Amino acid sequence: MTTALPSRLGQLAVPAATCLVAMVAVLLLLEPEGWLLTLAALAPLVLASGRITSVAATAATETERLRQERAVLEHVVRLAGDGIVLLGADGRVRLWNQAMERITEVPAGDALGRRYDDLLAGPDASGARVTLNRLLDGIGPDDPHRSAEIRISMAEGLEHWLCCDHSLKFEGRSWTMDVVTVHDVTRMREVERAKADFVAAVSHELRTPITPIKGYVELLRAKGESMSEELRQDVLRTVAERTNHMARLIEDLLLASRISSEGPGAVVLGLRLEPTDLVEVTRRAAADYLREPTRRVTLEPPPQPLEISADPLRLSQILVNLLSNAHKYSPPDTPIRVRLWRDDGWAKVAVIDQGLGVPAEELERIFDKFHRVEDPMTMTASGTGLGLYIARELARAMGGEVEASRSPQRGSTFTVRLPLARQIASAVVPSP
Ligand code: ADP
Repeated sequence: MTTALPSRLGQLAVPAATCLVAMVAVLLLLEPEGWLLTLAALAPLVLASGRITSVAATAATETERLRQERAVLEHVVRLAGDGIVLLGADGRVRLWNQAMERITEVPAGDALGRRYDDLLAGPDASGARVTLNRLLDGIGPDDPHRSAEIRISMAEGLEHWLCCDHSLKFEGRSWTMDVVTVHDVTRMREVERAKADFVAAVSHELRTPITPIKGYVELLRAKGESMSEELRQDVLRTVAERTNHMARLIEDLLLASRISSEGPGAVVLGLRLEPTDLVEVTRRAAADYLREPTRRVTLEPPPQPLEISADPLRLSQILVNLLSNAHKYSPPDTPIRVRLWRDDGWAKVAVIDQGLGVPAEELERIFDKFHRVEDPMTMTASGTGLGLYIARELARAMGGEVEASRSPQRGSTFTVRLPLARQIASAVVPSP
């Protein structure tokens, strides 16, 4: 059969076929479709030679193997949890995987062909803009890696922090390809900042009552004997109040750390559930506020008691926290309503204020540990960002929930719901 071929081609058939396999392998990775077609076109010619029929078979097997490997690689890149971007030497995007679409909300179709700087340049922690040129300045084959953390603006004014790790492929002194892996580190940064804010807030919260405690104790030591009984009682009351404040704060910290390490639940939180009237507990929790001369707080109870199974002390802690927040985060001349009602098997109590309210995107996050809304009003009020976290965990451990909403006009509404006792009983004892 080889006689049908030009004799020169016949002599070269074996080495040429071996080369062909390697070439096909490389070319298939780069341009699979085009080369498969070429291979198909070459097939009759190759098959014409009996000596290289087996080589053709090997090439076909190799082609299939490469096709499968390529498919697997494509899947890995597409489905990887981290963002992967491939840049050509012109700094334009050649690949933008699914994770990048999720992280940046830019579809691959919009990203492909665009300049890196249009998509991923942004300010770093110092505020300096990191462009591709600046980042890769001075890079060479001996040290082909660079990293940067940058801030990018998303739709709706949200900002994300991205960590971009660049690995470059060099040919000689010039780079031909830049593989960028991208991680969204926004949450990590938030946690780091929350921790720093928390340490500052706790130090402040503990120092504030200590200063008067120290002062008053010194006063009692130096002049206690000569003080009138009334003044001495006054001083002692202040010391007791401040000490209680510190004790509460320390208890909150311990409770939060127990929930974090052991998980939430009635047992972990040491709850003692007993038949309780939500109206009565609310009345007691609000007693101090209801006595205020400004009469800011008004109670709107239902005609009947709201019987629930709860730990009255912990329930009171939830309500005191909501009432104290309503005072801290709304102007002093605005009313605060405390409304109680039953609703479809639930006993509900809502604390409604007319303050600035909580921004819509923060309504869930304010229940995160240590989270405080970053606005002047929150930052001038004392706090650690633990109150709502603990309130929600306590309510959940009693079978209920705490939720926040924005009032239609202005202000916030914090609603606690707990299952009515009848509801619990009917759930436990099936009706005959
Ligand atoms: P703290 O008051 O100690 O900061 P909380 O966990 O009780 O902690 O509240 C978390 C955050 O939720 C507050 O820092 C504040 O930004 C916001 N917040 C809570 N209650 C209100 C409210 N009634 N009105 C507006 N913002 C509120």
